[in-house]
Amino acid sequence: MEYLQKQDKEVFKIIEGEEKRQDEGLELIPSENYVSAAVMEATASVLTNKYSEGYPGKRYYGGQEFTDKIELLAIERAKELFNCEHANVQPLGGANANIGVYFALLEPGDTVLGMDLSHGGHLTHGHPVTAISKIFNFVRYKMKNVETGEIDYEELREIALKEKPKIILAGFSAYPRELDWKKFKDIADEVGAYTVADVAHIAGLIVGGVHENPFDYGFDVLTTTTHKTLRGPRGGMILIREKGEIAKKIDKAIFPGFQGGPHMHQIAAKAVCFGEALTPQFGKYSAQVIKNAQAMAEVFEKEGARMITGGTSNHLILLDTVTSFNLTGAEAEKALDEAGMTLNKNVIADDVRSPLDPSGIRFGTPAVTTRKFKEEECRQVAEWMIEVLKDVQKAGEVREKIKDLCEKFPFPHIFV
Ligand SMILES: *Cc1c(COP(=O)(O)O)cnc(C)c1O
Repeated sequence: MEYLQKQDKEVFKIIEGEEKRQDEGLELIPSENYVSAAVMEATASVLTNKYSEGYPGKRYYGGQEFTDKIELLAIERAKELFNCEHANVQPLGGANANIGVYFALLEPGDTVLGMDLSHGGHLTHGHPVTAISKIFNFVRYKMKNVETGEIDYEELREIALKEKPKIILAGFSAYPRELDWKKFKDIADEVGAYTVADVAHIAGLIVGGVHENPFDYGFDVLTTTTHKTLRGPRGGMILIREKGEIAKKIDKAIFPGFQGGPHMHQIAAKAVCFGEALTPQFGKYSAQVIKNAQAMAEVFEKEGARMITGGTSNHLILLDTVTSFNLTGAEAEKALDEAGMTLNKNVIADDVRSPLDPSGIRFGTPAVTTRKFKEEECRQVAEWMIEVLKDVQKAGEVREKIKDLCEKFPFPHIFV
């Protein structure tokens, strides 16, 4: 950042501070990761200068010989990764990907059946605070058993039969188990709904081959972010199983429907990330992410702490801090932050507390696994977490130990 340092010390200093924060602390937010230096170079490239409204071969501005190439490359790699016929790599984020799908497949007033927010769903699955909830009708399914995480598929089917949703949406931000894609697809077929999986959190686990791909069960559409377990630049993407009407409608909904010019530097970085995800190393990474999360869960289980769904089958854990440690989610987040562990407070199923100070915390292993942590380090981190949660006065002491551990595990920068 030599130019930035010379030209604008104020901005440079702030970014430098953030780099140090990321370097010396433990990133446990399950939706975050560290990207490779190659991904970062692509995001910082001259492609940021270019307008490319439209799609490859059909643009509204000249000078597209290289932007067309980079977008086509990203699309081809995305299709190979997810085993599908069409990809739209232009959504600026995961929310945009979902909104694009709603506008493509629904008319105002149509119904979407998605997961309840406090049971793991995402705001963009139609929470009343969102703008889209004013346009479409969102209804919700939940877990049957919060202690095991089993989804209430019978109730889901009953709601589907009664509400006749046009889309059944399977996906989550705070659910530590796997969904039964086949059950969703069977119910959707029975009521004539589209099947959409929002795999924002688990895209990396799917392409790494450690979680099942909804396309293998006939899902119509996948939406995702590219920056969570997929370990790419901040952005979104929509994958469509087949070329055809759905694909055409989705492309139109993104542009000119509601986005303007695509961010080509991000699309180039997505292509780099997809290239990394296509390597065998990425499969090993994804498998380790889950092993690491399960290693942490074992420590909490031994401690007798209450994890929502009793543990984890993916990259994240939801801990009921009120029941387990007599701390609210906000208190736990703050104490752990002081100890050098970044994670987020989170509502737990049917939480009686407010989202600003809920009953639990959510954390996970995508970023620490990128940092090359194995089960041993993850068990150690879980023990430190417990130490601080039991006695918040220990935060300073633990912070020093974490700094030492982080020094031994610097950012790798190169993944392939
Ligand atoms: C993170 C997330 C999103 C939103 O992604 P943004 O890039 O923040 O817009 C959408 N859906 C799910 C399930 C997510 O976890």
